[in-house]
This record gives sequence, structure tokens and C-alpha cells, in this order.
Amino acid sequence: MIQSHYPSFTRKEAPKDEESYNAQILIRAGFVEKVMAGVYAFLPLGLRVLRNIEQIVREEMNALGAHEILMPVLSPKEQWQKTGRWDSLDVLFKLISRDKKEYALGPTHEEVVVPIGQKAIFSYRDLPFGLYQIQTKFRDEPRAKSGLLRGREFLMKDLYSFHTTVEDLEIYYAQVLKVYKKIFTRLGLDAIQVEASGGSFSKYSHEFQVLTPNGEDEIIHCEKCDFAQNREINESKEGDVCPKCQAKLRVSAGSEVGNIFQLKTKYSTPFGLSYTDEKGEAREVQMGCYGIGISRLMGVIAEVFHNEKGLMWPDAVAPFRAHLIALTGQDENQNKIIMERATRVYETLQKQNSTVLFDDRENVSAGQKFAESDLMGIPWRLVISQKTGEQIEIKRRDEQEARLISLEEVIEILK
Ligand SMILES: [Zn+2]
Repeated sequence: MIQSHYPSFTRKEAPKDEESYNAQILIRAGFVEKVMAGVYAFLPLGLRVLRNIEQIVREEMNALGAHEILMPVLSPKEQWQKTGRWDSLDVLFKLISRDKKEYALGPTHEEVVVPIGQKAIFSYRDLPFGLYQIQTKFRDEPRAKSGLLRGREFLMKDLYSFHTTVEDLEIYYAQVLKVYKKIFTRLGLDAIQVEASGGSFSKYSHEFQVLTPNGEDEIIHCEKCDFAQNREINESKEGDVCPKCQAKLRVSAGSEVGNIFQLKTKYSTPFGLSYTDEKGEAREVQMGCYGIGISRLMGVIAEVFHNEKGLMWPDAVAPFRAHLIALTGQDENQNKIIMERATRVYETLQKQNSTVLFDDRENVSAGQKFAESDLMGIPWRLVISQKTGEQIEIKRRDEQEARLISLEEVIEILK
């Protein structure tokens, strides 16, 4: 991508109407733009990050054997009345059409996926299977001040699984726990598995939490073992004894990036979702649901990976692999040589399938180019100037010192 062709959305100052760090830095670096409280537009750089996160999640869902579908955002009131959530779910966005029909904008999709799953379920031979989507969701949040961490409109991956028995659901649930760990590791995040309230159908549900100072949840976790519970089900204080290993408990702020629930028959019952077992008897289908906040993850990653100069994207989600910067000066002839060399490097790297943002702008100072590059947080910075000669100056975003290497070495590093 050539930077002079790219609309520049970076700003010198953080927006004054944002309280959360993730929104401040992502707006300043030109990744997102606020449309209203809790609603953001994803700009070219931000969309690349969002798509990278989405792709990792999609690959792991497919590896699990789940099938991708796309459900509508809009759904009829009647389906929400069947489960009682039209009245009980306070964050449900409701719409009235011109002919006075009522609709919901989905914050979750059980009411839509159950009737769809029903079309493919007759006997025990049709089970188990999983359906997932990556789709925009809505929540009527009274207080949307956490940037991408808690939006009124956001992107989510939601998976629903259908089973003959609770035992089969539990096997699948355990598999999803493993897949989730893999996803967060691939994203560069250290997410811990936390027990949370299971609602009326299970003892516990599980959340994946990233410990970060601005997190909105409080996590009680052991300093030695893997014991971790959400504050909503545990009253322990810092320094109390771990019930599992007797070591000390700690209390930290966390941001939820995923959650998984055993729904069992909670949604099968109202929709009459059943199958015929081996003996020819009708039984209710057992269900699980599994969410990952895709746009929220982008906010959490921004909260975790930054320093005073700006963002520091993990390699797997970075908008580009490298930021190639051509530095020109006063000498017209030298400038021509520098730009030719930089263009050649850019084209070579493109051929190697490395994603590169090429800062070819000639009327921007070196200081401004470096400051913007640090703000954007692309993992590798490559500089070509009169000083670098035939070589390329390379530096990782999190390193202090740059070094001079050959194009062949750059290709090797960016592979
Ligand atoms: Zn412990």
C-alpha cells in the first residue's frame, strides 16, 4: 500500500470526548472513527486489523469442524417472545416498522439459530454439529464509555452447538475451551480461563479474560495455580487463600474476550427442538453457545500492546508486516536515487507476499514520518535514506536500536 495514495486519518491530539485508552489511541492512530457513543467506523488500517483477527478465529472454528453461516441482524419479535427475552433482556434493541410490526436487532442469536438448526435435526444420526457466524451485534448500552470494549454495535463470532446428550455437549465444550486458548495465543494474548456464573442451567460458565489495568471486570486468581473466578461468584480479597492449592489469591482487572455456556435445553424447550433417539423416542436437543468479541479484541489488544509513542501490534494482527519509509532531503538528484531504491525494495517485498505500507511522501519531515509510524505500531520499520546507502535500516517497533542489513536479509526476516 502506497501511503501517498492513502487517506491519512492520524491526529496529533487524542479526541477530548473519549474516556477509554483504546478509543483514544485507535482514533489518534487513524484506525477507527467514532460515529456516536459506542459506535465506531473502521478505517482502512483498522479494518485490516479487524479482518486479521476475524481470519484467525474463522480458521480455528473451521478446524474444530464448525460450519460458517450468516444470520440476519434483524429478527421478528415473536421469536424473542417465545423465550421470554423480548421483555427480560434489557439491552435488546427494538424497532417498530412503518406498519407497526416490531423487530429486534440481535445482541445474540439463539432465537434465530434454533429454528434454523431445527430444519436439519430429525434423528440422533443428525447430531452433533456446530454452526457459527461472524456478524454485527447490537446492545442498547445505557453507558457506552469503554471504546471498543463495550459497544452499542460490535462484531462478534458466535458458535452454537447441538447434541444428543449432556455428555456429548461436555466433550464438545472441552474441545472449544482448547480451541479458544489456541486462538488467544495466536493473537498474541495471554488470556486466562475464568469461571463465571452459569445462569440457571449450569454451575459455571467460562470466560476468557485478559488482565489489563483498564479492564471492566474484577478477577480473583491464584498466583500459583490456574484457579480463577469472576468477582460475581467469588467474594475473596487480595491475599486470601486459594481453595485449590492454598497459595495466595490476587485480585486484578480483566477484559473479557470470550465466553462459553452450556445452554443445555434452555432454548430447545421453547422452540420444541427435539430428535428421535435409537429407541424411537423424542428427546430434547442439548445446546452450547460460544462467543468471541472480534471488535472488542481489537480494543483489548490496543490496551495491552502500546507504549508512550503509540500502538505495538502483535505480528499476527498487525495491519501491515512492515512500514517502509523513504527519507528524502534537499538534494534533488539524491532524492531521485532514494525514491527509486525504495520503490524497488517495495516492489520486491510485494512479490514476496509481505504486506508493506510504503511511506513515499516527499514533503513530510523525517520526525513526522517516524512519529506516525510509531503511533500506527506496524511491527517492522524499514528506512531508506542517503545515509543507508545500498542497505536498509531495520528496527522492530519494540526495539530502541536500528541496524543496517541487506535486502536479502530483510526478505528473510519478513517471511
Ligand atoms: Zn491456587
